[in-house]
Amino acid sequence: MKYVSTRGGMNAQAFSDILLEGLAPDGGLAVPESIPQISAQTLETWRTLPYHALATEVLSLFVTDIDRTTLASMTASAYCKESFKTEAIVPVRPLYDGMSLLSLSEGPTLAFKDMAMQFLGQVFPYVLKQRGTTLNILGATSGDTGSAAEYAMRGKDAVAVFMLSPHGRMSAFQRAQMYSLQDANIHNIAVKGVFDEAQDVVKALSGDLAFKSKYRLGAVNSINWARIAAQIVYYFHGWLRSTSAPGQEVSFTVPSGNFGNILAGHIARSMGLPIRRLVLATNENNVLEEFFRTGIYRPRGAAQTFATSSPSMDISRASNFERFVFDLVGRDAERVAGLWRELSREGFFDLSAMKPELDRRYGFVAGCSTHQDRLATIRAVHARTGVLIDPHTADGVKVAAKYVEPGVPMLVLETALPAKFSEVIEQALGMPAPLPAGLENLESLPQRFTVLPCDVASVRAYITEHAST
Ligand SMILES: *Cc1c(COP(=O)(O)O)cnc(C)c1O
Repeated sequence: MKYVSTRGGMNAQAFSDILLEGLAPDGGLAVPESIPQISAQTLETWRTLPYHALATEVLSLFVTDIDRTTLASMTASAYCKESFKTEAIVPVRPLYDGMSLLSLSEGPTLAFKDMAMQFLGQVFPYVLKQRGTTLNILGATSGDTGSAAEYAMRGKDAVAVFMLSPHGRMSAFQRAQMYSLQDANIHNIAVKGVFDEAQDVVKALSGDLAFKSKYRLGAVNSINWARIAAQIVYYFHGWLRSTSAPGQEVSFTVPSGNFGNILAGHIARSMGLPIRRLVLATNENNVLEEFFRTGIYRPRGAAQTFATSSPSMDISRASNFERFVFDLVGRDAERVAGLWRELSREGFFDLSAMKPELDRRYGFVAGCSTHQDRLATIRAVHARTGVLIDPHTADGVKVAAKYVEPGVPMLVLETALPAKFSEVIEQALGMPAPLPAGLENLESLPQRFTVLPCDVASVRAYITEHAST
C-alpha cells in the first residue's frame, strides 16, 4: 500500500515514509492510493478475534512495509488490559431505544485519543530505530491530545515530547494527569500565556526550518495518517460486536471536531463494512453540520468559534475534512487543489450541486447540540440507565436519537469519560463524576513541570538544552 497526496503533488510513498511527516509537500494530506476491500466472508472470520488481533488484521492492510509479526506485537502492546483496564479494550454498553455506547475512553487518559496514540507509541520508536534517528515531538495542548501523546510516548526510546500547556489554565485533573508523569523523555512546559499563544510558539519553532531539522522536531497532530488507520479498527469492532449475521447494517454517531474520528468510519464503510449511517454530531460550532446539510463548507476564524462545554469539539476548521472531499470529488486531486485555492480566496466553497450524490453514496447525516441539550442528555441517560456520559458523548447521544431506525443498532462513540469534565456533570446532576479506580489519588501525586515565559526564545533555549539526540 502506497500513499499519495489529496492535491496530487507527491510521489507515492510507503507508510513509514509518511508516518513522521505532517502535511504533504504540496500542502495536501496523505491518503491511501486505493481503499482495500473486505468481503463479507472475511468479516465473519474476524468475529472471535480479540481487539489487538482485529487491529493487526485491519492495520496490516494499510501498513504493508512492516512485517506482520512485528505489527502483531505492536498491537498486542498498544491494546492491552494493563492500559485499558478492561479485557474488551472497547466495551459496547447498551443505553436505550436501540442506542449503545462504543466505549473508546478506557485508555490511560480517559479519552478516545488514546486509541490512536497508543499505536503511535509503538510504531514511532520502531520506525525511528530502524532509520537510526530520533524525534522530538513538539506540541501545545489544552487537554486531550497532549496528555494522550505523553502517555503513549513515556519511557520510549528515540522519542522525547515537549508539550506546552497554558500555565494555570487547565483543570486540576488535567494538570495532574500530565504533570505527574516522571519519565525523563516527557517535558511538560507550562507557559505563561493562553493556549493560542502557546500554539503560536509551536508554529514559530516548527516554521524555523533550520531549527526544526537540527533538533528533528515532529508532531502528532490529527492529520497523521497512522492515527486515522488505528481508528478504523474500532468501527469493525463495533460492527462485529453488535451484529450476528453477514450484511447486517449498523449506524454510528460521532462527536466531531477535526473530522478525524468520523473519517475513519467513512474509510471503514468504503472498505465494505455494512455501515448504514454515519451521523456527524457537532456542538454550537457547527461548520461540518452545515456542510452535510447544505453542501457549503465555510470554516470560521477563532473569533467566531464559541468556547463551549464540549471544548474538544470547539473547532471551526476541520483539518481532516480534505480527505473526505478527495473521495467525494472522485479522488480528483486537481479538483481538491482548486477547491482549497477557492477556500483561501473566498473563505468558502460550494459543493451543493453534489448534495444528492453526497446523500446517496456516503451515508452521512448531521446534527448539532447546545449546552442545554448536553445537560438534558446527561440527565436523561443517567435517569434511564444509571450511566454517566461526558459532554462530548452527550452531543453524540442527542443527535443520534434523531436518526435511530428500527432494526439498525445505533452505536454512539464515547469520546471521553465524565471524570474529565466533572464541572459539567456537576451542573447537570448536582454531583461530581466519580474518578475511575486507581486515579483517586492522581491529584496528590508529585508533579514535574517547568514554567517558562510564553515566548519563542525561552522555549527554543529549553529544547536546545533537553532535546533527545
Ligand atoms: C478530539 C475529540 C473529539 C473530536 O474528534 P475529531 O477526531 O477531532 O473529530 C471529540 N471528543 C473528544 C473528547 C475529543 O478529545
